[in-house]
Amino acid sequence: MAKKIQAVRGMHDILPDEVFRWQYMQDILAQLLSGYGYRQLLLPVVEKTELFKRSIGEVTDIVEKEMYTFDDRNGDSLTLRPEGTAGCLRACLEHGLLHNQQQRLWYSGPMFRHERPQKGRYRQFYQVGVETYGMAGPDIDVELIALSHRLWQQLGIRESVQLELNTLGSSDERSRYRDRLVEYFQAHKEQLDQDSLDRLERNPLRILDSKNPDLKPVIDAAPAFSECLEAESTEHFQQITSSLDDLEIDYVLNPHLVRGLDYYCNTVFEWTTASLGAQGTICAGGRYDGLVSQLGGRAIPAIGFAMGIERIILLMQEVAAEQVQPKLPHVYLIRFGEQGERRGLQLCERLRSALPALRLTMNCGGGSAKSQFKRADHSGASFALVVGDDEVENNQYSLKALRHDQPQESLSEQALIERLQKELI
Ligand code: ATP
Ligand code: MG
Repeated sequence: MAKKIQAVRGMHDILPDEVFRWQYMQDILAQLLSGYGYRQLLLPVVEKTELFKRSIGEVTDIVEKEMYTFDDRNGDSLTLRPEGTAGCLRACLEHGLLHNQQQRLWYSGPMFRHERPQKGRYRQFYQVGVETYGMAGPDIDVELIALSHRLWQQLGIRESVQLELNTLGSSDERSRYRDRLVEYFQAHKEQLDQDSLDRLERNPLRILDSKNPDLKPVIDAAPAFSECLEAESTEHFQQITSSLDDLEIDYVLNPHLVRGLDYYCNTVFEWTTASLGAQGTICAGGRYDGLVSQLGGRAIPAIGFAMGIERIILLMQEVAAEQVQPKLPHVYLIRFGEQGERRGLQLCERLRSALPALRLTMNCGGGSAKSQFKRADHSGASFALVVGDDEVENNQYSLKALRHDQPQESLSEQALIERLQKELI
């Protein structure tokens, strides 16, 4: 036998036994987003490499070591998208969606990063991204947070997540802070690891983002951004926190929240959980006012967030598993004998016409009554509907409950439809 080919490391199949949770989450999300006035767009999975280099930043983990980049047959350098913000903005600029108008948008789909696979960290993973353009905040910043907060409530995971909040100020303030940080970490060089020493040269803010626990003391004692903030940024941030207080949405101020990408300014936030180990961030976002002009548009304020679907699903399984159940068939139709098979097929299609919401699985491929009952049981259906030669002759169908004690019923087609109708309510 030929050797089996396996999936690429870190790229997962999501099997039917799991997919119902994804669908549940997607349904809730789509309804919630349209309720807030956000419109969906569908974007390519591949973009020009240049787009990510220019937006995410050359000196970031993603661009330096995580991108799937390749030359296509024309020799153009292309990249499987590692995140969605850049492509969304590219599309909006390309199609003139930002001309004198505000936009509230969302997208979802796979992202690709060449990372070390582990629980909650994959090489192909799914994100839902939400982006807004043309609003300088702070009201829209708060709306985005309130929207995500509502999502956790609806998914039953609110009690397991917390909101971390910080501001990164303007680019002037950031460069002043950068100088301060460099000075501080230079003075504490002996406490840094190799990764952070590299970052010290090229992207010192990222040291604050280090996941090495040994660095925690030196990072905790680092100067806070607030020392470099001026009145305007402080005011913006205070309006956000006071609106969150009004809405009774709790938050934790985390002065060392910096986010891994270069384009953020002012508001940054993450929703984190203690229930998923090191992969604790389920949603992350922030303001990126500078990015539109960086990609060739006019200066337009922007803010958005992205959430990692796998991590949200993992969390739902941990803390809200009973809230979502798979959609099993209502009825499994068993049919045997020449007449029974024929009538059974016709009956199935008529039931589907009469009861569009009915989940009805028809036995295919024959089999004895016994083996068909086995399949019915295995399918998880609530009822078996039996059509054999006797049933055809009497024009009465047998309905047998499979999951609870209930006498078998013998029903005409019309009575069967009415009976199943009740079952669907
Ligand atoms: P992390 O710090 O965990 O590496 P990140 O800062 O790289 O996350 P973002 O680029 O902000 O992540 O992406 C937004 C969200 O997408 C994350 O909060 C997380 O939920 C999810 N995510 C990011 N990378 C992965 C991955 N490799 N596998 C699964 N989910 C991911
Ligand atoms: Mg990362």
